[in-house]
Amino acid sequence: METLQQIIDRAKRIVFFGGAGVSTASGIPDFRGAGGLYGEEWAGLTPEMILSQSFFYLHPDRFFEFYRAKMIYPEARPNAAHRKLFELEKAGKLRGVVTQNIDGLHRDAGSRLVYEIHGSVRENYCMDCNAFYGVEKILNSAGIPRCDRCGGVVKPWVVLYGEAPDKYTCMGACREISNCDALIVAGTSLSVEPAASFLEYFHGRRLVVINAEATPADARADLVLRGDVAEIMGEIEVRTEA
Ligand code: NAD
Ligand code: ZN
Repeated sequence: METLQQIIDRAKRIVFFGGAGVSTASGIPDFRGAGGLYGEEWAGLTPEMILSQSFFYLHPDRFFEFYRAKMIYPEARPNAAHRKLFELEKAGKLRGVVTQNIDGLHRDAGSRLVYEIHGSVRENYCMDCNAFYGVEKILNSAGIPRCDRCGGVVKPWVVLYGEAPDKYTCMGACREISNCDALIVAGTSLSVEPAASFLEYFHGRRLVVINAEATPADARADLVLRGDVAEIMGEIEVRTEA
């Protein structure tokens, strides 16, 4: 913890790269961690199969059944990690949160410098006329959600397996990673591409990994903390001068 505090005190441009483990303390299960959704069986299908582009087009009814039940958590609130990152942003120390999460909790905490590289459940668009809908549209509909204006299918702005993430969001995320002096990688198994390879853009001074389990980035990290992201980030003191 002392070393992490020192790294944060000395850094001037921190970037936080996070995954599902950042939100488990808010009550949202991850995929591959202990208690993650990969342990559950959905008629022999894994979340990765259901949340794929081809499954969405072939079985939209079953896609939305899973999506409503397992991907949307309207009661979830930001935890100590989300809150501390907002504090670091306000103090001018943090240049960006690059998140693979789609839950919108960083924005709820107040953070503005957020790169949601896999999109967000909060944004949904009609596939025919592009009308925008909030998350309530999905929650308050049954079966396949339909556009009020034209009857088209309303699709979540969430990057499905087999789809390419938004180019400009990725460019912004990679630019911040390549310009930062300290990168904190947390709560991610680093098994989803292209997100995981974004770390290759890091050439800064200090790489920190905070995760419950081992990750592929541990070997090149300056500091590896094995524990709870919310607890660890919650303990950090935000100081502008070292
Ligand atoms: P993952 O499930 O593959 O890995 C999560 C990692 O975090 C695991 O290594 C686990 O051990 C660790 N972890 C879990 N809780 C932790 C905690 N409290 N403290 C420290 N470590 C913890 O998640 P991923 O790498 O983000 O990839 C999953 C994909 O699924 C992402 O693309 C994401 O879009 C999506 N997803 C998003 C959410 C969300 O928005 N909250 C939830 C589940 C999955
Ligand atoms: Zn429409």
